[in-house]
Amino acid sequence: MKVCCWGVRGSIPVPGPGTARWGGNSSCVEVRAPGCAPLVLDGGTGARQLGGALLREGVRSVHMLFTHFHTDHVFGLPFFGPLYAPSCDIDIGLQGFDAADAQARLGSYLNGVFHPVRVREFPAKPRFHGVRPARAFELGPYRIEAIALNHPGGALGYRIEAAGRSVCYLTDTAPLARPGEGAADGKAPPGPERRLLQLMEGADLVIMDTMFTWEEYLEKMTWGHAYPEYGVALSELASVKRLLLFHHAPDADDDALDALDAKWRAHDGVAVQLAREGETIDLADGAR
Ligand SMILES: [Zn+2]
Ligand SMILES: [Zn+2]
Repeated sequence: MKVCCWGVRGSIPVPGPGTARWGGNSSCVEVRAPGCAPLVLDGGTGARQLGGALLREGVRSVHMLFTHFHTDHVFGLPFFGPLYAPSCDIDIGLQGFDAADAQARLGSYLNGVFHPVRVREFPAKPRFHGVRPARAFELGPYRIEAIALNHPGGALGYRIEAAGRSVCYLTDTAPLARPGEGAADGKAPPGPERRLLQLMEGADLVIMDTMFTWEEYLEKMTWGHAYPEYGVALSELASVKRLLLFHHAPDADDDALDALDAKWRAHDGVAVQLAREGETIDLADGAR
């Protein structure tokens, strides 16, 4: 299974010379089991280039999953080329009680006001799935399990399994325990954090929101973002094989991300690296 990052930024895209090496597009990740249709995670601005690449490849079937509807995760959706290909088979999973509820939630954004194309007008006529936490389901070859994260307005995290490999996509979220009270501090985890550790258990790759530093988290605990040390602690407790730090802060330029990446690649424990736009991780090879 391969994982490609098409957008790694949080909160807002930040194009420009200062972000050219790590990328300026907002959240969008492609997961691909061998020989299978792609699974697209979130539709941030990275979705535009991904959509173009999928059309050039001649892909006829696409699965999509959304964590939540903050604009950095949906702004690229109406620019996702396969939605305009009538012959393309697309299914979209997002939080909702059922398919109609899921479509209505996305329709509150794609309603003709914020973008000229309404959700029901896409030529591909996508199908919708209402996703609820703790209920496993399948999208094509992908087995999906969702979990409620700690984010204003709510967000879903996912564990995705296919072809004997597993990926967790955990953005956007603050820690699921208060400072000093959770598993990262050697304490018994509260229920939500225990469920998160269970979801992460043994994963080949975890992609995690680590937009803040520890100090920023203490200042902005209600903003719904975590920090690298938290992702590392949970990944090691859950025997995760690889951790990808994700949802980079808009103010973190290439030099700042170089330094952060170098610091965490030297970490003695779980393999850690920063998500970089355009980079593909092959979970078959196990290389760092
Ligand atoms: Zn975000
Ligand atoms: Zn958000």
